[in-house]
Amino acid sequence: MTSITCYGGVAEIGGNKFLVEDLGTRVFLDFGMDFSRRRQFYSVFSRPKSCSDLIEFGVLPRMSGVYDYDNSSCDIDAVVLSHAHMDHFQCISLLKRDIEIYASEQTIQIIQAVMDTRREGIENSLSGLKFKTFYNGRPFKVGDIEIIPFEVDHSIPSAHSFILHTSKGPVAYSGDFRLHGRGVRLTRNFIAHAHKEKPLVLLCEGTNISEGDRNTERDVLKEASEIVGGSNNLVFAYFSAVDIDRLRSFYRVAEDTNRRLAISCKQAYVLGKLKNQKGIGSFLTKDILCVFKRKKRHYEKWERAVHSNFECVEAVDMKNEQNRWIKISTMYDLDEMLEIRPNPGSVFLFSASEPFNEEMEEDFSRLRNWLGHFGVPLYNVHSSGHMMPIDIRSAVSQMNPRKLIPIHTQSQGFYKTFLHDVVSEIVEPQLGHTYSLD
Ligand SMILES: [Zn+2]
Repeated sequence: MTSITCYGGVAEIGGNKFLVEDLGTRVFLDFGMDFSRRRQFYSVFSRPKSCSDLIEFGVLPRMSGVYDYDNSSCDIDAVVLSHAHMDHFQCISLLKRDIEIYASEQTIQIIQAVMDTRREGIENSLSGLKFKTFYNGRPFKVGDIEIIPFEVDHSIPSAHSFILHTSKGPVAYSGDFRLHGRGVRLTRNFIAHAHKEKPLVLLCEGTNISEGDRNTERDVLKEASEIVGGSNNLVFAYFSAVDIDRLRSFYRVAEDTNRRLAISCKQAYVLGKLKNQKGIGSFLTKDILCVFKRKKRHYEKWERAVHSNFECVEAVDMKNEQNRWIKISTMYDLDEMLEIRPNPGSVFLFSASEPFNEEMEEDFSRLRNWLGHFGVPLYNVHSSGHMMPIDIRSAVSQMNPRKLIPIHTQSQGFYKTFLHDVVSEIVEPQLGHTYSLD
């Protein structure tokens, strides 16, 4: 039997876990954390004691021969990771160590960097995992299934979509992708290949299926430059630590506005891991970039490595020359404002998606309180990592799958109205259900 079972990424943004089975080969496409389910039982700071606790609460699917704690023999051949966002990879930490984990070289480097910066625990351990590298456009085989990875554009380097050749026909998996970033031609290349393959099934993400905008990375650069150019004091900016395209944009903004860019320790650690990748070295050679060193009693090993490899600045260095800096902030280092005391005319550039759950809303309202206290206005300057509604429609239409399974979306019902004229069958997946390709 050839089938796809949806163990995560169903009616939800993230937590992707799709098991493809064909002639005895079993491959997971992504193995991410279901944050919305986890959030119901644990906070960001509380941790499960065991894998079985996560299974009990439905954060992980109940399966045998998959998890490291379980003594039964291994029942999965491989996990293939699309990219290094936690909602696509984090649960590999809990897998049996004889399962092969395929990812691109950069994805493995980012995963290692991200996990090094997290507290030790069952959800953050890579020790003993068997990583294998795949390359853009080069097919590889897991058992009977041939898999072709295609690099696509997303808000993290080296995201991939896949085409899987099963005995019943091709299956296409979007991972997360978009058609409005710097790597549009990559996404177009995947779509063109999928079109030629005539997929039996397309698993297609729809984070933005019901709501779009027209902001591109170029708009972010232009708008941020104008705002920063108009501020004569400190500029704070917030964006994802693994979004290197966004970092590139803010680096350009700093260059254009004659400021220096003080990045977070975590951003610097990720950059350090990627330093041999094309285009990254140029960040590290010019004197625009430095690292903001937080005052702490104890620094972790990875933080000490950053402090010895990068030029560091502290709050006191910024306090008296506020118009010279763009300081990257996170939701968890807002207390630095107490020391810096932003002068009138300072601004905060929020360059991430708007909050879409309670935890994010709480973080956001806390940020607003801090900014309100210091009289710092917030500007939204963002371009989404995910494809826009009209682009999804044209991509699906071009790929022309026989069957479409909407994934990674809170609006899966939307596909049936918005796309029913471009695809003959839309299957709204249910968690834990198996869909046969026979
Ligand atoms: Zn992603």
